[in-house]
Amino acid sequence: MAERVIITMACDVCKNRNYYFDRGKKQEGKLVFKKFCKNCEKHTEHKETK
Ligand SMILES: [Zn+2]
Repeated sequence: MAERVIITMACDVCKNRNYYFDRGKKQEGKLVFKKFCKNCEKHTEHKETK
């Protein structure tokens, strides 16, 4: 029985929450993605946040 986990990815620069992932199960460690931030208007690091 996999529990659904919603992961929120927030820009590390402006803390804007830009991306959401629906993940089947928990993964070890913090996720960090280089994603485009509309607020910063550039690619920034996005980190998993609760
Ligand atoms: Zn940003």
